Amino acid sequence: MKLLLKNGRVIDPSSGKDAKLDLLVDKGKIVDIKSRIVSKGAKVIDASRLIVAPGFIDMHVHLREPGQEDKETIATGALAAAKGGFTSIACMPNTDPVNDNRGLTEFIISEAKKRAVVDVFPIATITRGQKGEELTDMADLVDAGAVAFSDDGQSVENSQLMRRALEYSKPLNTLIIEHCEDKNLSGDGVMHEGYYSYLYGLSGIPASSEETIVARDTILAQEAKANIHIAHLSSKGAVEIVKKAKKKKIKVTAEVTPHHLILTDSHLKSYDTSLKVSPPLRSEEDVRALIQAVKEGVVDVFASDHAPHTPDEKDVEFNKAPFGINGIETAVSLLLDKLVNKNVISLKKFIRMISTTPALILGLENKGKICVGADADLTILNLNKEIVVDVNTFKSKSRNNPFQGWKLKGAPVMTIVGGKIVYPFSSSKSL
Ligand SMILES: [Zn+2]
Repeated sequence: MKLLLKNGRVIDPSSGKDAKLDLLVDKGKIVDIKSRIVSKGAKVIDASRLIVAPGFIDMHVHLREPGQEDKETIATGALAAAKGGFTSIACMPNTDPVNDNRGLTEFIISEAKKRAVVDVFPIATITRGQKGEELTDMADLVDAGAVAFSDDGQSVENSQLMRRALEYSKPLNTLIIEHCEDKNLSGDGVMHEGYYSYLYGLSGIPASSEETIVARDTILAQEAKANIHIAHLSSKGAVEIVKKAKKKKIKVTAEVTPHHLILTDSHLKSYDTSLKVSPPLRSEEDVRALIQAVKEGVVDVFASDHAPHTPDEKDVEFNKAPFGINGIETAVSLLLDKLVNKNVISLKKFIRMISTTPALILGLENKGKICVGADADLTILNLNKEIVVDVNTFKSKSRNNPFQGWKLKGAPVMTIVGGKIVYPFSSSKSL
């Protein structure tokens, strides 16, 4: 069915468009954009006072299927994404078993086609079994549909292997995403090492654990002339390394999560295990550096690192709880409230960092833009809508989110994937 979005403020950073326009969607594609469109038989959506943006893309999501379906499944993770305003997600391979082979990559793609309301793009592991010993068959995995490679949850410890992965990624025109962490430096740490880890009596993860690997990987990427994407950048030192690497024209991109931009290690006073995350929440100084990095373009992308865990797993003492924040349903409102509505960054920059740039980095050609012929993936925002975070309304199977009860201004109100309204779930609901 045709969809006609009337009178929305259409913002498309890829073309510089920012105007009140009508937008017509047919057969999964954007077919017309102009100031006034009349189309017989189209379902009309009044988008006046709303923002029409290219569909948001979360390039760092953990769907937990196969193997840990009690935390999340492809279907529930996709519903959570749709509610959070995302039209596409890239899912990390540290499932059980890990996604290191064609069969599993194809399984995720076919299950997603059947059961997911958003588009799902699998990321495969860099090393077999995620063991850090030998490379996966990257060419076969790209052929099967993997959009990137990562051993997320850990770094590739062996520098020679990492160098080879970067070299192979080039002719395959694919991307290596690194979770930068030297586990020997992290040791048994559970929070950022600093004043508050001593105060709260919890063992610390030093910033050097992240920074040494960021430095190593940018050096290796330079040598291989390959792209490297740094996942969840969290420390001031890591920001400085990425900034320097970019100045030297090394092909590095980086992402940051809402929680690393908003929360600090001082919040761990509550010993709330939903605040336990890897990399850990850092100091105020680190947070200031991250916000500056967003403003300056040192950080390219917002990603949620959506990491669902069951209440049973998180409802234990702090040292024993798993790392991870369930963030895909709160990411957009947090960023709109804390960055856009407070004028830290422009709305256009926000959209660029959550749609345009992730599409470019992942090579999703028909996504992340609003133009005739592009996929009809759209995220509609109401910048004035006030919400109160309530984990009990989550579509995710899990609830481990530290923003419970927060009042936020700005929210996604409609998510359209391939011309289909996937959120609100009953699309008759008013915006
Ligand atoms: Zn990670």
